[in-house]
Amino acid sequence: MARPMKWRKVCCLPESNKFGPLDSPADRKNRVTMTVDEYETIRLIDLEGFKQAECAKQMNVARSTVQGIYMEARKKLADSLVNGKVLLIEGGEYRLCEGLGADCGRGCHRHRRGRGTIYNGTPSRL
Ligand SMILES: [Zn+2]
Repeated sequence: MARPMKWRKVCCLPESNKFGPLDSPADRKNRVTMTVDEYETIRLIDLEGFKQAECAKQMNVARSTVQGIYMEARKKLADSLVNGKVLLIEGGEYRLCEGLGADCGRGCHRHRRGRGTIYNGTPSRL
């Protein structure tokens, strides 16, 4: 039985969830999968300039947890970049922010989008 995990809050889903070298095929052996919560730490820390403590608060997890997620995410990014692997972003233990929480600040992209859509586990592509 899987250990129950606390939901990690994610404020933005990737616009695209498949990245990789443009000159090699995306075969099964040549890919690395990053979870959506790992992606969120990269987005908040590397793009939005959050400190790890701020990132932890926004994602509703302990700072040590964020540190672990972030390290794993960086390792996967490097693996993709250095070894020319396709990077997929999918899965993970998270819940998409509804953009209503007062604890969501500048890094929350849910505020920019339409409200009223509750994430049901399957990313929709319009
Ligand atoms: Zn949010």
